[in-house]
Amino acid sequence: MSPPQETSIVIAGAGPTGLALANCLAGQGVNFVLVDKLAAPQTTSRAAAIHARTLEVLEPLGVTDALVGAGFPIQTVVLQDRDKTLMRVGFDQIPSRYQYILALPQNETEAILTQRLTALGGTVERDREVVAVVQDGSGATVTVQDAAGSPAMLRARYVVGADGYHSIVRQAAGIGFAAGTYAETFILADVHMDWTLPPGDMRLFLAPEGLALVVPFGGGRFRIVATVPEAPATPTRADVQSILDQRGPRASRVSVTDVLWSSRFRIHHGVARHYRASRIFLAGDAAHVHSPAGGQGMNIGLQDAVALGERLAEVIAERQPDAYLDGYEQQRRPVAERVVAMTDQMTRMGTLTGAVGQQVRNIGLTVAGHLPFVRRRIATRMAELSRP
Ligand SMILES: Cc1cc2nc3c(=O)[nH]c(=O)nc-3n(C[C@H](O)[C@H](O)[C@H](O)COP(=O)(O)OP(=O)(O)OC[C@H]3O[C@@H](n4cnc5c(N)ncnc54)[C@H](O)[C@@H]3O)c2cc1C
Repeated sequence: MSPPQETSIVIAGAGPTGLALANCLAGQGVNFVLVDKLAAPQTTSRAAAIHARTLEVLEPLGVTDALVGAGFPIQTVVLQDRDKTLMRVGFDQIPSRYQYILALPQNETEAILTQRLTALGGTVERDREVVAVVQDGSGATVTVQDAAGSPAMLRARYVVGADGYHSIVRQAAGIGFAAGTYAETFILADVHMDWTLPPGDMRLFLAPEGLALVVPFGGGRFRIVATVPEAPATPTRADVQSILDQRGPRASRVSVTDVLWSSRFRIHHGVARHYRASRIFLAGDAAHVHSPAGGQGMNIGLQDAVALGERLAEVIAERQPDAYLDGYEQQRRPVAERVVAMTDQMTRMGTLTGAVGQQVRNIGLTVAGHLPFVRRRIATRMAELSRP
């Protein structure tokens, strides 16, 4: 085997987290190697929402304008029981330049991050799977394998696991991750449909059968997310239509015309015990997973990436000692814990069973919805602006 390729930082995984980290490092002249086991980027829409805080945090990377230009701004979230409005949450008073939720399919977010990385001279080395990481006093040795199974070695001062929920880097570092799983499965579908309600609002229908979320992407395209006891592997147009007939508006007819992409998933929730083990760091889904309620998952991964990238750049440039990197876990792990708790609360509220409990919830939401400070607080929390 040839001698290891030397670099300052190896990033395992070129999802949104790894790409944002690479952008941050490239922008500050730090050398790195970014590898991903996939031969090509994923083409599916997955995480659909970017929040105000994330748009602000991404500004120094030079990608925010492109994201805003490509996405669809959602100014209001409406909670409904069929045709009855329980609560309207507007974003026009949140303390940010970006007073909306930006709807944008994840593959487009990743494409924008990749374009910016290319412009900065960075690349994603694809078809390279991290299969082992071994640390020592001065750095870490990473073994990567290509599609043919040929191994190669990388030698770095630090390694970042941005390799998702099943992170091999986390396992190599021996960092524990205790995750729970929700009973419900989620249906996810991007559709075209005839929708006569105001098309710019995000709507969450709370029905006895479960919840149904309708997110507009603009141009007649919508994302539908719904809880079901056991979701089909590939939800069809008829599945989505039946959910909307059962849970959506009664007064206006909804007609799903075609399904662009659909999927199902089961949700885990948990936070890695640590974000750092000596030379190894975790970021994004490798460090935390939670319910998609509130659309926070990709957002906190992107914010992890920028926080870690800024610290790594300081240490590599010798402006700060290695101990400065300990602050990353102190800064970011409590955020994930709060998001796991908040999204857990939202999921339990949305999937409450029992007629009495649902009635009490709906009355509570209606009463709270009349209080401007409650609506402002919810909007600020959703935009991730209510914490340091
Ligand atoms: C069907 C679906 C729907 C979702 N919907 C939403 C949503 O509506 N809202 C929301 O907020 N979130 C949603 N998510 C979650 C969101 O997609 C994740 O939070 C986000 O992708 C996390 O980004 P990441 O970069 O940390 O990890 P990932 O996106 O998982 O990226 C990890 C990358 O690492 C690579 N990799 C893995 N192992 C290795 C290895 N050993 N060597 C090299 N490369 C490796 C993978 O190929 C991948 O490219 C959804 C996810 C799925 C699957």
